[in-house]
Amino acid sequence: MTTYLIKGVSVVGGAPTDLLVRDGVVAETGRGLDAPGATVLDADGLVALPGLVDLHTHLREPGREDAETVETGSRAAALGGYTAVCAMANTSPVADTAGVVEQVWRLGREAGLVDVQPIGAVTVGLAGERLAELGAMADSAARVRIFSDDGHCVADPKLMRRALEYVKAFDGIIAQHAEEPRLTEGAQMHEGEVATRLGLTGWPAVAEEAIIARDVLLTEHVGGRLHVCHVSTAGSVEVLRQAKARGVRVTAEVTPHHLLLTDARAETYDPVYKVNPPLRTATDIAALRAALVEGVIDIVATDHAPHAVEDKECEWAYARPGMLGLETALSIVLEVLGPEWDLIAERMSRTPARIAGLDGHGLDPAAGVPANLTLVDPAARRVIEPADLASRSRNTPYARMTLPGRIVATFLRGEPTVLDGKAVK
Ligand SMILES: [Zn+2]
Repeated sequence: MTTYLIKGVSVVGGAPTDLLVRDGVVAETGRGLDAPGATVLDADGLVALPGLVDLHTHLREPGREDAETVETGSRAAALGGYTAVCAMANTSPVADTAGVVEQVWRLGREAGLVDVQPIGAVTVGLAGERLAELGAMADSAARVRIFSDDGHCVADPKLMRRALEYVKAFDGIIAQHAEEPRLTEGAQMHEGEVATRLGLTGWPAVAEEAIIARDVLLTEHVGGRLHVCHVSTAGSVEVLRQAKARGVRVTAEVTPHHLLLTDARAETYDPVYKVNPPLRTATDIAALRAALVEGVIDIVATDHAPHAVEDKECEWAYARPGMLGLETALSIVLEVLGPEWDLIAERMSRTPARIAGLDGHGLDPAAGVPANLTLVDPAARRVIEPADLASRSRNTPYARMTLPGRIVATFLRGEPTVLDGKAVK
């Protein structure tokens, strides 16, 4: 195992120091370190962050390997500065048994680029009718702790209650895709002025807010743990604020795209902007940004959703919802928050690692800590070229945009997965 001496790096925005990475851990820190035989990385001007952790990734394997595989998605993640991702359950077959979650977990280990932590389905086949084998998935080699029907809402309140109760036995979490399906039938974009002008069926904010309100009450009632996926409206922020003030065990995520892009993008009729929940208004974006700073929204999660060309380059109405996110997330967050390194580490690494219970992740680089870290060049600006992305898909909404920040290197347990901005394997 190669020893690395990272020279002159700013750890989470602090004064420049050196990091000695040896045998999978940060062995030593301090200025002027010397390590004969070590590979020296000049990190002058770079910022070291704990490796990013994504609580919401779609890797598409098994079933849609034409859109992404565990390996290509893991490589995209490493290039985005991630050392761990949680893989959503809406694969084919659905990850609703111990067998499928173990398969995804094993594929992640074989790829060896990030730690892949499977999320199990809440209901069999994501059909919303009966609970999946939650206990068997928790007891499996994948040790599943988060369950989600993401892509679908667990709409039946009785089923949602039982799921929240069931996973309490192992301190599990139900991650809800909050969308009251009867309020979003045929929906194509955010319900509002732009949808009216374009004549497209709207997805009203209240369809999200009503489910979050219901679920925080259910969670409070049973004493369970709830995580709210991709919060997208100002009203949802208010529901979460009240729930947290009452001490409900609820956490929430926001995606990079919901922090930056508005529903006005639909005017282009380019389906790359079609996503679920849909892009909202500038007022929603302002509320989401404030909530992220304040901590009402706990984390940024990508909802990385690769889609094959035929599912995306077609008429808006037929296109599948979803956008790529892993390789651009940090740049978007930098664009939105500025170089607030401690806040970025909190929202993109420490807190998601804590929610998911991922040992060895979300820890600032310090002596004795597992070397899961990423080096960022905050001064770099780059133009996003879809053809350059490591994801197998091309549906990035940031094509040809110039964004701040570049991932220079990523280390997983002391082994580089990215060096000089390029994937190592
Ligand atoms: Zn979702």
